[in-house]
Amino acid sequence: MASSESVLEDDRPIVWFDIDNTLYSASSKISQAMGTLIHAYFVSLGLSHEEASELHLKYYTQYGLALRGLTRHHDVDPLDFDRKCDGALPLEDMIAYDPALRKLFEDIDRKKVRVWGLTNAYRLHAERVLRILKLDDLIEDIVYCDYRVKDFVCKPESEFYQMALEKANITDPSKCYFIDDNRKNVDAAQALNWGHCVHFCEKGLEAMEGGRIKEIDDAREPGSLENDVAQVQMLEELRKVWSEIFKDPLQ
Ligand SMILES: [Mg+2]
Repeated sequence: MASSESVLEDDRPIVWFDIDNTLYSASSKISQAMGTLIHAYFVSLGLSHEEASELHLKYYTQYGLALRGLTRHHDVDPLDFDRKCDGALPLEDMIAYDPALRKLFEDIDRKKVRVWGLTNAYRLHAERVLRILKLDDLIEDIVYCDYRVKDFVCKPESEFYQMALEKANITDPSKCYFIDDNRKNVDAAQALNWGHCVHFCEKGLEAMEGGRIKEIDDAREPGSLENDVAQVQMLEELRKVWSEIFKDPLQ
């Protein structure tokens, strides 16, 4: 992957891909396995199962990530949490290389755009997922949650998106393409005038959020502003929605 320094004079737009539950389907049930490990982590702090479930949901809702509540209120070492939760997932048994997905990434025209990851996971997990999917050489860099930083930021906080623009040396947010399975994350990018936002929505499947199983739908938070975010059920649809970033098939 390119270091951030090497993109300094690069004015190509960036295509930002969320990683978890976007580059692989929610049908892998990784979010459920992750939820189980996070629950076990809460319990290992001496909480009852009921308290663990309540706090898991509360911190997820309040902070966007359970870990942020854990570091604020329980003096948890975020890297220990990462090892025992994301790091303990048997990802190799849960997701697999998909040649069609790799082809989709190969068909994005690198003369026109850069392709980066934008994830709430720590770098180790993000890189592991990309390696298994054989996309690690096709995603140039990753903006991730840096668990080593006290009070680290994450999606959907505007500071996180701002940090991403700075790392990629982009001043004009309209040059950003962005896809994420979490509608709040997409709405946050749209509110910051990111140019081409897409919600990846595998309607009818289930995923776990904050320790609760939820059927995936396109419902939005009460009071959300009307916006014109596009929606896809499969990443292949990006060939149409973002047709301008793909190689011309005649070339
Ligand atoms: Mg996601």
